[in-house]
Amino acid sequence: MRGVRARTYLDHNATTPVDADVVAAVSEAMRDEFGNASSVHHFGQRAKARLDEARHEVAALISGAATEVVFTSGGTESDNLAIRGVAEALEPLGRRHLVTSALEHEAVLTTMRALERRGWRVTRVAPDRHGVVQPDAIEAALTDDTALLSLMHANNEIGTLQPVAACAALAHARGIVVHTDAVQTVGKVPVDVRALDVDLLSLSGHKLYGPKGVGALWIRRGTRLLPTSTGGKQERSRRAGTENVPGIVGLGVAARLAATRLAEDAAAQTRLRDMLERGVLARVPGTHVNGADQLRVPNTTSIGFAGVEAESLLIALDLEGFAVSTGSACSSGTLEPSHVLKAMGLPLHDTQNALRISVGRHSTEAEVTALTEVLPAIVQRLRSLTDRRPSAAPPSPSQGRA
Ligand code: PLP
Repeated sequence: MRGVRARTYLDHNATTPVDADVVAAVSEAMRDEFGNASSVHHFGQRAKARLDEARHEVAALISGAATEVVFTSGGTESDNLAIRGVAEALEPLGRRHLVTSALEHEAVLTTMRALERRGWRVTRVAPDRHGVVQPDAIEAALTDDTALLSLMHANNEIGTLQPVAACAALAHARGIVVHTDAVQTVGKVPVDVRALDVDLLSLSGHKLYGPKGVGALWIRRGTRLLPTSTGGKQERSRRAGTENVPGIVGLGVAARLAATRLAEDAAAQTRLRDMLERGVLARVPGTHVNGADQLRVPNTTSIGFAGVEAESLLIALDLEGFAVSTGSACSSGTLEPSHVLKAMGLPLHDTQNALRISVGRHSTEAEVTALTEVLPAIVQRLRSLTDRRPSAAPPSPSQGRA
């Protein structure tokens, strides 16, 4: 029986709870490792040793070299550093074109828009109807002026994995630098920077049971990149500013745990996710899974509920104690259609009726069962409210933007 205050967290793509071992390591480092890692004395060298240890752990998780890992304040900063850093480094060569997908997170899309305002040309490649960007569509977008291809490894809303290695091969054949935002895959599926054949890869601590406000950009040795923040020579002059030692220590521990638990977590979460999808599709009529049958990260599902506004469903579920999402956390609270579902070519009503449910390391079968049990009545109630409206309001111009 669920108590009044029982809360079920099923929004692990927004953020994850911090692992107890991470909490312990962060507090120990905050207390004992207060030295500045750039200081020559004992205190500084101790802090530097902890950074190096974390650098090795992060590198091991993605099969990169420790010297290629630059610590940042998270996924957003890593994406900014990759895109702006490469664009500016290659500008003198006359390469003023950038290619990305229409599926990316705001951290990439908004950065691209900012560069567009400053004269770069940007091509946003649409995915197919199943939420996958096809290599031939990427190939058609690449030109001799293209500096960078930025293609996410998995989409944060629907979980589809993108053919990064195939697209990277096409880009490299034309001398184009390749970045991937792997914020939603690192810790969930095996990530190997060499197999992906990328030059830059972004990851974020708080998506893998680590602290918020810390992440990393892996930069392949030899990649041309200008720093976006200027100051001291920290992080091999690629990211100025005194390092967040406790946060980075926490990221290192989270990376080590993720590496040891990866297969086990992935199997358990796939089972729960599949069980959830089967349960919802069987119990709630008028539902569909976006990106079903595609390769997806194990923990994510995006379920469309015909005739229901996802935001209302989210609020109703929150009142019942279930935390889910309507898409990327940054855009929730607005009634904008999902840019991801829109890019997939779904009709307008299907871009506003999808819930993102993302299970995690501590999710249980009982939680998934409880969710599938409350959903039918809530969905029925919301549909009956909509049906009672005199006439369905036509979409506002902003909702209907093409
Ligand atoms: N990229 C993707 C795919 C994400 O899902 C997120 C977070 O939602 C980010 C980037 C931003 O990461 P951070 O919250 O660490 O800035």
